[in-house]
This record gives sequence, structure tokens and C-alpha cells, in this order.
Amino acid sequence: MTQRSRKMKKPFAMSVIAAALLVAGAAQAKEVSDADILNDAKTTGDVVHFGLGQQGQRYSALEQVNVKTVKNLVPVWSFSFGGEKQRGQESQPLIHDGKMFVTASYSRLFALDAKTGKKLWKYEHRLPEGIMPCCDVVNRGAALYDNLVIFATLDAQLVALNKDTGKVVWKDKIDDYAAGYSATAAPLIVKGLVITGVSGGEFGVQGRMEARDAKTGKMVWMRPTVEGNMGYKWVNGEKVENGISGTLNATWTGDLWKTGGAATWNGATYDPDTNLVFAGTGNPAPWNSHLRPGDNLFSSATVAIDPDTGKIVWHYQTTPHDGWDFDGVNEFVSFDYKDPKTGQIIKAGGKADRNGFFFVIDRTNGKLINAFPFVKDITWAKGFDLSTGRPIYTEGGRPGDPTAVGEDGKKGKTVFSAPSFLGGKNQQQIAYNPKTGLFYVPANEWGMDIWNEPVSYKRGAAYLGAGFTIKALHDDYIGTLRAVDPVAGKIVWENKNFAPLWGGVLTTGGGLSFYGTPEGFLKALDAKTGKEVWSFQTGSGVVAPPVTWQENGEQYVAVVSGWGGAVPLWGGDVARRVNFLEQGGSVWVFKLHDSKVASK
Ligand code: CA
Ligand code: CA
Repeated sequence: MTQRSRKMKKPFAMSVIAAALLVAGAAQAKEVSDADILNDAKTTGDVVHFGLGQQGQRYSALEQVNVKTVKNLVPVWSFSFGGEKQRGQESQPLIHDGKMFVTASYSRLFALDAKTGKKLWKYEHRLPEGIMPCCDVVNRGAALYDNLVIFATLDAQLVALNKDTGKVVWKDKIDDYAAGYSATAAPLIVKGLVITGVSGGEFGVQGRMEARDAKTGKMVWMRPTVEGNMGYKWVNGEKVENGISGTLNATWTGDLWKTGGAATWNGATYDPDTNLVFAGTGNPAPWNSHLRPGDNLFSSATVAIDPDTGKIVWHYQTTPHDGWDFDGVNEFVSFDYKDPKTGQIIKAGGKADRNGFFFVIDRTNGKLINAFPFVKDITWAKGFDLSTGRPIYTEGGRPGDPTAVGEDGKKGKTVFSAPSFLGGKNQQQIAYNPKTGLFYVPANEWGMDIWNEPVSYKRGAAYLGAGFTIKALHDDYIGTLRAVDPVAGKIVWENKNFAPLWGGVLTTGGGLSFYGTPEGFLKALDAKTGKEVWSFQTGSGVVAPPVTWQENGEQYVAVVSGWGGAVPLWGGDVARRVNFLEQGGSVWVFKLHDSKVASK
């Protein structure tokens, strides 16, 4: 029996009811469920979560656009974020139900028709005077849940909008922007919770992760990432103690734990296999490490939190007693591999850390499996002791103590350090392709002169106690897109770039790795060889991660363009070297010009 004849046998009344239900369904916009979010990495028709899924692999199985067809990839539409706010566009678009939700600099959010680029609505957050974002007026993206689109703002608030109208449904203050708090990361959604961190590590804020009911914004738990601070949970609206993070004064002396930084400014990932949220934490405050003896947990680390209890299950510190501003905020990306010796499947996580080492960690318990350099000429450590999980520090690699014997008390011994504090990798996201078994890392090779100075904490003021100048290491490149084999522990190929790379990567079943450059190009490389197979000039620097999805049999690729972020503000000699780059603010969408043919 054919499909057609079976359909014709259906009772007439049933068809009418089914048709009526269909019409009702069409009139009502689709809501985003927990199942949609859990399955996001597998469903190629939408992108409902940051990272193309909570694990953050940034992998899509789509293969219509592939090594052979990508030469026919052409723009479909481009949309300008408008106004005078043309800088620092680090956002990843979300795609759902034919709509794109994309944030822009200065805490703006746009809803666009994904097919045509037509503007559906815009939300512009009213920012107060005196906000203190350390590293430009950026935002990295929104979250979708139920009928809401939720994002964090530069004045440290969370805003949930009706995704069909752009009207505010709930708003909640994370903390006081006047004390140096801000928020720039895309929220993580886990089992109906919206999970967020804080920015402000350069102002001595208290790092933490927070979970709220995504539908109402009501607090559920708060977990501090500076050891010694009390965690809380909310039971029937009552705030109750939920255990201290670690042990008071174990790794922080005196009262330093009250202003210890460890800001969770780049958000978190989630792994349903282990039911763990992996949050990266920033530098301990202040930068001058001689003022805070000890490991300074849980700074410059990955912290695994049980989302059901808000408790820390394990932590792994990538830079204990950090003295170089090596924020360990880099995303922890879950992946599985077969152990070459035992044949056993290992549940691991990969992290390309700001300190220049690529970490492979057992994600069930936080035990270090391997750590190897993904950038050259690292000065601060020779490597990692795999039995203890601790770095082997280079003698003399730490900037000196201004109060040491023979110093004047005002400026300690300057050291040249690589990577620079902007890192072997910064906010720009890595991607993992299960087909090639490789991570794609937007890396940078640069160094810095760094020295320490005295400093004391003052609310709302920079809390560094350090000075620095960033310098290029090579004449011909700073950025380099590197393919990293996490099992063999080596770099497989690289593709160099003159300016530092500051945008994330997308990798696909079509054998491609997409990423943008500050010079304005969105590029596609052959994921196996690193050879460039396509590029397009977007008109301004790309510092954001691309996404892809499929609709009506056609594969689309989108990326936000608009130079800015930390490099022009903090880059020293490097900022001068790239001051020819122009700012902007727009989103681009591409598809194959013959995709209807290609899909046959
Ligand atoms: Ca999806
Ligand atoms: Ca920092």
C-alpha cells in the first residue's frame, strides 16, 4: 500500500480535527522545552542553546555545505545593529521556529526573521552611567526557555523577554554594577534553571554561579567560587545556608576571601551524562600574587557543580596561585574517546586554557589525564606533573614582589611572560568534531612585560597591583587556528593569522571548520587538513562564533561581525599593531546559491 492510499482511508472527521489542531498549532508560536535544549546538538533544524548544545561542542552534523560545495556559499542577507554602538560584537545567534535571536553590544537584543533578516522586534536595555565592563561593551548571547529569551546585561542584571513580542516578563539584579559587577556571558539552561556567572575579576568582586527558575527568575541556589564564602539555596522563597565553598582560610589568608575575584565571566557548560555544570573561574584578586599566599581556590579553575544541589562536586585548578591573570574561564567541553591502551571509553572534557596548556580531564571526577602546550614558548611553567595534577613552575617566571629585599616597595621585578594575560586562548570558543576527533582552537601567540605594584581593595576601583605591556612574538602572525588531537596530545595542523583571533569556531559533519578573523573574513577550513577552502569579507572584524542550521532542505551559516573586545583596550603594542581594523555591528547569513540542487 502506498502512503497516499493509506492517507485516503482515514475517516473524514479525524482529518478535520487534525487539520483544526494543526491550524491552532501554527497560530501559536512554539515554546522551547527542556527536551529541545537537551537534544540541541542533534537537532540540525535549530540552534536553541549557546555552544550548539549544553556540552558546548559547537558541532553540527549538517553536510550539505561541505569541502566540495562550500565554494558556492553566498550571502542571503545581512542586518545592521544600527546606532552609534558599533563595537565589540561577540554574540552567538540562536535560531528557533524560523526566528533568529541575537544580542549586540551595549546590552541590545534583536529578533529577526531567520529567512529574510526582517526585524521583528528590538530590546535596548537602559544602561546607567558608571557601568564598569573590563573588556568592552560586549555580550556573548542569549538563552531560550519556554516562551522566553533571556540575557545578561552590562549593569549586572538578567532580563527575560517574551520571545514573540520582546516585552519584559521578568528582570532580576545579579549584583551592584557600582561595585564592579557586570555580566556578558550567555546563560546556561539546565532542567528549567537559568544558570549564570558574574564579571568583574579586575574589581575584586566575589565570583559565583547562580541558578534561577528560568520561567520566573526566582533564586534557586548560589554557589561562591572563592573558597571560604557561604553558599545559599532558596526553600519556599526563604534564603538558607547551603554550606561553605571549601574551607574558610584554607587557601586564602585573613579577609582576602571576601574580595577574591574568581569571576565566572565566560559562563558554563553542562554534561547530562554526569549531571554536572562546568564553570570556569577567573583570576584571583588582586593580580599581585605576593599579596595573597596560597593556592587561592577556586580561582583560575574549572569547578564542577551539581545543578540539583548547587554544591561543588570537583574542581581542577589550571593555574594555582595565579600571578599572570590567567583566568581559567575557558569553556570545558565534554567529549568521549576510546583509550588507545585499554579500549575503554573515557568520559573526558577538553579545555584550552588561557595559560597556554590544553587540558584533558576525566569529567566524572576532575582528575587530570593530560596537559600539553597548544601555544609555543610558554614561560611560566615547564609542564604539568600528571601524578599530582600540578604545574611545574619555571623558576623566576613569576613577576617579583615590590616589597622584596632590595626593591623600592613601589615596583617589583619585571618579567617577560608568555602567553600574555590575554591568553593562549581567551573568550573565543573552541569546537570539537566527533568525526575527526579533533578540537579546533583559536589560539594566540604573544607575550608581556609584567610587574607587580602595591594595591589595596577599594570598592568599585580597579584591584590589580600590576602593570603590563603586551608584545607580539612573531612579525607575521599572532593568531593561529590550531587542530588539537586530545588523545595523542599534539597539534595536527595550524592556519596562521596576522591579527589575534578573537572569534569562536564551528565545525561540521561536512568536514569544515568555520571561524572569523579581526581582518573581517569569515573562513572555512578543511577540518582534516587546515587548508582554507572559502572566505567572505564581512566588513568589520569577526570576534564571535558562527552557527549553522537547516530549514526547508537548505543549510544556513550565520555569524556576527563587529571588531572590538579586549584586544583594542588592553593590547599594548599589539593594539597599536591592529589599529587599522574598523569597528562595526551586523549579522550575516549564508547558504549555497544552488542548495536546492545540492540537497538532491
Ligand atoms: Ca539544535
Ligand atoms: Ca582577569
